[in-house]
Amino acid sequence: MISTISPKKFFQSADFPDFDNWQSELAAAISDLDELHRLLDLPAPEAADTPKHFGLRVPHAFIQKMQKSDPLDPLLLQVLPSPAERLAVEGYSTDPLAENHQNPIKGLLHKYRSRVLLTITGACAVHCRYCFRQHFDYAANQPSSREISAVTEYISAHPELDEVIFSGGDPLSVNHKFLSLWLDKIADIPHIHTVRLHTRLPVVLPNRIDDELLSLFANYPKKIVMVLHINHANEIDEALIKKCQALRAANVVLLNQTVLLKGINDDAEVLSKLSHALFAAGIMPYYLHVLDKVAGAAHFDLPIKQAVGIYWQLLERLSGYLVPKLVQELPNRPYKTPVNLHLLDDD
Ligand SMILES: *Cc1c(COP(=O)(O)O)cnc(C)c1O
Ligand code: SF4
Repeated sequence: MISTISPKKFFQSADFPDFDNWQSELAAAISDLDELHRLLDLPAPEAADTPKHFGLRVPHAFIQKMQKSDPLDPLLLQVLPSPAERLAVEGYSTDPLAENHQNPIKGLLHKYRSRVLLTITGACAVHCRYCFRQHFDYAANQPSSREISAVTEYISAHPELDEVIFSGGDPLSVNHKFLSLWLDKIADIPHIHTVRLHTRLPVVLPNRIDDELLSLFANYPKKIVMVLHINHANEIDEALIKKCQALRAANVVLLNQTVLLKGINDDAEVLSKLSHALFAAGIMPYYLHVLDKVAGAAHFDLPIKQAVGIYWQLLERLSGYLVPKLVQELPNRPYKTPVNLHLLDDD
């Protein structure tokens, strides 16, 4: 039996405010470095010089899963701005996937034949320091309510599409009215069978999965897939497990994608614990992504041979269905590319 609960100093309820709804919880996300350190019983940090458009941002519910007094907590390291972000490293760019040129219309990316990706918002509840879309020009790519029709006309005119993916930013960071407007429009397109949501909200702010959203999903006429983004077993707590049960009861299929991150989950033991914890929560491992080479994230990257070595150990340890696919995104390929697992053979 693998336990995901490590001995930790628990937060007292007095540490955090009570919230009436997810919007006020979202609005109260911590953006002040000193406050974050105080909550975690860590010494005050040196002033960090974070980019204005992508500063510190982390909701209380995610902080609650961190270990107090541990400066190397794997959840903390994902959100804590670091001076290493400011280093220019060769090979790391602001648009590693050359996506900024692949928008046929505002808010829509059509890179893969059978599915389109929609960015209905640039906002996220949390700022992950390794995010590959941290430099993406969302303001220029966000369709307004009025522009929804341009997107739905494009999808209607492309019968080779069978799935619409809401991505971001985080598509669950928008309000219920805007999200249901989008989902209603997609529901009317006959050749779309599946709607997918790529989201980290249930992980960093489980209260986002409220009754209103659950009933929207339960009554939706198409298949709904939710791809969560969880990188470490400590992100899976009781609150998330309960919400996953509710989502499954609403007929939502739950998958997970993980980014392989130096110092956070670059270890077969950590990753197999994660797979077991996901499965216990009713979430199937889907992808393990090699980091996209985005400017500011080089310090999270590891050599591809090391990634492959870790992956072979995972294959050895886990039931086949618990092993995510190891992939990387290469510019201008019409799919996510499986990593060559025989890189090590000549050594
Ligand atoms: C990742 C991604 C998808 C989804 O790919 P799957 O392999 O179906 O998960 C679709 N469009 C874009 C642009 C993507 O980056
Ligand atoms: S939640 Fe996803 S899109 Fe948002 S900052 Fe994190 S990695 Fe980027």
